[in-house]
Order: sequence, then structure tokens, then C-alpha cells
Amino acid sequence: MVIGGGFAGFYAMRRLQKLLGGKAELVLVTASDYLLYAPLLPEVANGVLEPRDIAVPYRQALRGVRVLVGRVRQLDLAAHTIGLDCPEEGQVDLRWDRLVIAPGSVTRQFDIPGLHEHAHGMKTLREATYLRDHIIAQLDHADALPDGPENDDERRRRLTIVAVGAGYTGTELVAQLQFWVSRVTGRWGRLDPSQVRWVLVDVAPQVLPELGSRLGAPSADSAGGGSRFGSG
Ligand SMILES: Cc1cc2nc3c(=O)[nH]c(=O)nc-3n(C[C@H](O)[C@H](O)[C@H](O)COP(=O)(O)OP(=O)(O)OC[C@H]3O[C@@H](n4cnc5c(N)ncnc54)[C@H](O)[C@@H]3O)c2cc1C
Repeated sequence: MVIGGGFAGFYAMRRLQKLLGGKAELVLVTASDYLLYAPLLPEVANGVLEPRDIAVPYRQALRGVRVLVGRVRQLDLAAHTIGLDCPEEGQVDLRWDRLVIAPGSVTRQFDIPGLHEHAHGMKTLREATYLRDHIIAQLDHADALPDGPENDDERRRRLTIVAVGAGYTGTELVAQLQFWVSRVTGRWGRLDPSQVRWVLVDVAPQVLPELGSRLGAPSADSAGGGSRFGSG
């Protein structure tokens, strides 16, 4: 039995299929019925790809494997059992002989005030699709606000997009979204791309801390553009 159908669980299962080829029952227990190609989530958030383009159905890619969709809530290593919450069936108990545990990770929230209440993660198809819809809705709302200084504050808030975490994912996401939004904002007759403010926040002194100082340094293009990197 393999718990988790991300890259780790999926390829573990592929390898087990090759090694065991019909000599054992292979069971994949996972929270969704598809392998998510997570590196392409930003392309779903900016609409270049459709959600289904980055979702590979297990029943197609792992033929012969029994796929159980649900969330593992309990694991008893001594008794060789798991407790699984299934969407329709409720709690189901299952036995295993050999177990691979690969449930991935969850979005880190650190102790940043307000993050838990107001921010959205970027790890699932639902979150990527939500982000795209949410940004479009904010452009709609900002565009619909009546002219006049009394609405300037709300317009500014609706057109300010803050991303927390300037590692690979946060930086790529902001770069892709900024590119997309700058190209489509003109469709809203009363908005200008320069009004949209992007803020990328990290405790590190520069973006992409994993890649060293040269790649993380501001380029001539980004230094003067409509985005800002905040450290602290
Ligand atoms: C936006 C984004 C961009 C990325 N870009 C890159 C990149 O360019 N290059 C790169 O190398 N990496 C990239 N990564 C990281 C990469 O996607 C992860 O390292 C990789 O997905 C980890 O694989 P995993 O199998 O360990 O976990 P995951 O892919 O998170 O899979 C975990 C699986 O376990 C399931 N699961 C979790 N909990 C339970 C439970 N309780 N019960 C049942 N099932 C459960 C989940 O549904 C999921 O199927 C990116 C990640 C994101 C979010």
C-alpha cells in the first residue's frame, strides 16, 4: 500500500508495478484521483493552462493498481492498519502488508499575523483556480468603483497583490501573474496596469535565496517596474 499519490507515491507505485508485476495487490490511497503536476500550477493561475492539463488520472496512468480516494486519518504501525476518511463511505479501516508513506507537505504559514485568516495557498488545483478568479474579481470591483478620492483607498487595496515567500514558487508565481495581469488589465476600460501593485515578502534579504546572490539580485527591468520586494 502506498499513501499519497504525488510524485513520490506515484513513482514508487510505478516501480512496484515493474518489480512485482501481478505478484501482489497494489493499493494507492490518496486524497484525489489524479497526479497533480504541481510545477505547472502557476500556469493554471494565469490561465495559460486548464486545470485538466496538469492532472493525470491514476486510473489511466496506473492500470491494475487499486486506487482508493480518501484522506488517511489514522495509522497503526503495530496493527498494520489505516483509518481512511472517504468522501461518501465515511471512515474505512484497511489492512496492509507493506506500507510506503508519501503524503507530501502542507503550505507553511510561519507565525505571520493575518496569513492564516487572509492568505490562500498555492498547492492544489482548487487554489490555483481560485487565485485566478479572485484576481479577476478584484479587477472587476476596482473598475466598478465610482471615481472620486473617497474610493482611492479601496481601489488601491483591491489592486495590491501580496505574495509571502520569495523562494522558487513565490517568485515564479508573482512573475507569471504580473506578466499576465499587465497584459489583460487594459480590458477593464478604467484600469491601467501601472495601478496594480505587487509585493513579494520574505525574511531573506533578496529573492530566490536558494540560487545565490547573482540570480536573486534585482535586474534593471524589475528594479524600476511596478513590483516591490519587501524583506523582514
Ligand atoms: C506551485 C509549485 C511549483 C513547484 N515547482 C517545482 C519545480 O519547478 N521543480 C521542482 O522540482 N519542484 C517544484 N515544486 C515542488 C514539487 O511539486 C514537490 O516537491 C513535489 O510535489 C513533492 O512530491 P510529494 O510526492 O512528496 O508530495 P505531493 O506532490 O504534495 O503529494 C502528496 C500526495 O499525498 C496526498 N495526501 C496528502 N495527505 C494525505 C492523506 N492524509 N491521506 C491520503 N493522501 C494524502 C496528496 O493528495 C498528494 O497526492 C513545486 C511546488 C509547487 C506547489
